Amino acid sequence: MLKHVLSSLSTRREFVADSLRGAAALIALGTLPARRDDSPWHARAYPFTLGVAAGDPAHDGFVAWTRLAPDPIRGGGMPSRPVPVHWEIAADDAFRRLVKRGEALALPDLAHSVHVEVSGLSPAREYFYRFIAGGDVSPVGRAITAPELGASNAELKFAFVSCQHYEHGYYTAFRHLANDNVDLVVHLGDYIYEYGIAKDAIPAIRRHDGDEIISLTQYRNRYALYKSDPDLQSAHASAPFIATWDDHEVQNNYANAVSMSNAPTPQFLARRAAAYQAYYEHLPLRRSAMPSGNAMHLYRRVPYGTLAMFSVLDERQYRSDQPCGDGRKPRCTEALDVNRVMLGSDQERWLLDGLAGSSARWNFLANQVVLGDNMLRRPDETVDTYPLDTWNGYIAERQRLLDFLGTRRASNPVVLTGDIHVSIAMDLRADWANRSAPNVAVELVGTSISSGGDGQQMPEWGRWTLGGNPHMKYFDGRRGYVRVNVSRERLTADYRVVPVVTLPGGSVETAASFVVENGRPTLVRG
Ligand code: FE
Ligand code: CA
Repeated sequence: MLKHVLSSLSTRREFVADSLRGAAALIALGTLPARRDDSPWHARAYPFTLGVAAGDPAHDGFVAWTRLAPDPIRGGGMPSRPVPVHWEIAADDAFRRLVKRGEALALPDLAHSVHVEVSGLSPAREYFYRFIAGGDVSPVGRAITAPELGASNAELKFAFVSCQHYEHGYYTAFRHLANDNVDLVVHLGDYIYEYGIAKDAIPAIRRHDGDEIISLTQYRNRYALYKSDPDLQSAHASAPFIATWDDHEVQNNYANAVSMSNAPTPQFLARRAAAYQAYYEHLPLRRSAMPSGNAMHLYRRVPYGTLAMFSVLDERQYRSDQPCGDGRKPRCTEALDVNRVMLGSDQERWLLDGLAGSSARWNFLANQVVLGDNMLRRPDETVDTYPLDTWNGYIAERQRLLDFLGTRRASNPVVLTGDIHVSIAMDLRADWANRSAPNVAVELVGTSISSGGDGQQMPEWGRWTLGGNPHMKYFDGRRGYVRVNVSRERLTADYRVVPVVTLPGGSVETAASFVVENGRPTLVRG
């Protein structure tokens, strides 16, 4: 009995300390008025309509996320005042073995989202988390902490995903992923699409909530629409995500301050600020990523013992405008300009320094757009064309990166890529003109969750792509995700394919597996 009282006392003290620290930090950030309305809030409708999520696992904790939104796609339905949210971490999913709890404030300035940076947990352990607010209890999420820094951990199982256009298909791939029991999920962007309701949606299964989104309210409602999907929610509840964005979180193919439609710069930067804020509000990101005006520091490293390190990249915020007028075209001289950047000088230096100093056996780049040569020449064309929104249009910086990987200062570099809505597996060389040049890394391109609809296993242009790029060993044009098993001796990538996403309940199959042996940057069909 005494023991029970003592333990509840210490939990209570920690609980108070946590909420005071949180409130003090928020007042310092200027997001919380020093005086607040403390009258209790009771939800008129269930507030946890967008589920829960965990993010950026560390050896001692992770980010636990939720957002109060009783009326999700019409602004959220919350009062314009802070609302306290209790959180709990347990060792079991019935919450009998409570490990930690505290209180966070859901602020109207952040759409009543909460991002609890849980710390003080044990490494390499499974935990469960949930939230309580206004008399309601959230769904339960599962998270696994990373191994201790420096631990020689033996195994990691993760999945990577991208591109979830809501109108193009059901998130069946996420439902299958949720059953895979992975340690973490890497999301490579296109979490939402900014478009209005498609006039010719393929097929007409479900619709966007209105016109092309520009304002903060519209971006928030769009995230709420996407996050209302039960399969996406179950994937989030199954494992922590390491998320980065691509273009559609703001606008198709935007580059830094340049909009696709060449909107005036101040106008586009205001849109970018709204989009970045809504992204922060809806993903389980650390406070270090909190946006400041139209800027947001998203690139970061996530270590996983000494087995793996993830360098999470941002290939939109700092890049030069696409060369040669964008699109798939022959490379004009602009594409070769040495001053053009994809990562920008700060991020490039940070990436190469981090890789050079990494003691991880496997070094993953959470990359958005295709890095390796991706030449296409249709039978009726007389010149080679390249997708200029990808690294194929940013040749000088790509060469610096590939040359660095060729020095072997980073052990086993593996590039994870999204964006193009097809599966590709390829070896990377620093010299594309020389077919017998040594491989310096491998690139795993994962297909979309839903974007593009059902797709075909081998469309005509898939055959042309494989034919024109001998370093490519695999192509599949259907939907799905990639599951990666990592040990100290080898990596196995399973290309998980969901042939039908335009009807609910599609099956999943492993269409192909590739193996990479430690120390040998070459994909071998498994
Ligand atoms: Fe996409
Ligand atoms: Ca994209």
